[in-house]
Amino acid sequence: MQDGNGRKINYIRVSLTDRCNLRCVYCMPEGGIGKKEHHEIIRHEEIIKILKASAFLGINKVRFTGGEPLIVKGVDRLINETSKINGIEDIAITTNGILLNSMVNELKKAGLKRVNISLDSLREDKFKKITRGGNIQDVFQAIEKCINLGIKPVKINTVLIKGINDDEITDLIKLTKDYPVHVRFIELMPIGEGLNYYDTGFISSEQVISEQRELVPLNNNISSTASLFKLPNSKGTVGFISPLSCKFCSNCNRIRLTSSGTIKPCLHSDTEFDLKKYLDSEVNLISELKEIIYNKPSEHNLENDGKSRSKRDMFEIGG
Ligand code: SAM
Repeated sequence: MQDGNGRKINYIRVSLTDRCNLRCVYCMPEGGIGKKEHHEIIRHEEIIKILKASAFLGINKVRFTGGEPLIVKGVDRLINETSKINGIEDIAITTNGILLNSMVNELKKAGLKRVNISLDSLREDKFKKITRGGNIQDVFQAIEKCINLGIKPVKINTVLIKGINDDEITDLIKLTKDYPVHVRFIELMPIGEGLNYYDTGFISSEQVISEQRELVPLNNNISSTASLFKLPNSKGTVGFISPLSCKFCSNCNRIRLTSSGTIKPCLHSDTEFDLKKYLDSEVNLISELKEIIYNKPSEHNLENDGKSRSKRDMFEIGG
């Protein structure tokens, strides 16, 4: 359906948990987070109800994220149930890739179409440092497995932070030469733990693009959140996601469901709607969701505010 600003909303991101098996320095607190009670986390059957209502309103694309979606029990069953919902055409996950190698076969059989793998460094020691303990070999194996299984596209998401991984931009771009992967550089956003790095670490996409002279611009899809480029004769592409320097709110097509069961119509707004109380009636659920989508905020204000207005951190929303 269209929102009040005439945008077609056809995409929902679902955060399955706020827990993660990594502790990326700009995302998760070092000591982890407090464990939530069972009833505080949305159950899979509740997610399915919300997805059915969403599909009724024209949402055809679902992304499962987190926290880390692959640590959630029964994620394959959830994907399978989702794939049976009338109108849902595309199911994707955003994952850190640590558990993906051993799971992707089953997930694909269940109906998974696409994967985004977060990878902020190609160097074993640095990866361990950024993630506070992750093993990069797990992620490399997962990427290879996804390519071999014919999952298309395989996207690699890298959040660039000055002084941490900006020395690897060229190496990350070079990956696309030999592998059919889509490397996407994401601007660091001033939210949660990211605020500790933002003032000194923010690098704009514009700066990187101007320095990477080999990159050839591709015909950009206006509704895409990423500006796309390519190295000559490469198998993959390079994208830039610029929520700050080139915000894409006027083309935003998504809403988010948090693991607590609230809908966030805008990542950086403090507005949230609790859907749990409407779950007993399909009619009420659809009507509430319709209202929420119609009133989706026209834009975020990150560039003026200097920090997100969201009451939740990225690990609770899922990016
Ligand atoms: N665990 C999964 C993963 O690592 O992809 C999904 C959840 S994670 C919160 C989703 C994405 O948000 C990751 O790509 C992560 O790098 C990104 N992210 C977290 N904090 C961020 C920030 N402050 N600015 C930009 N991206 C951020």
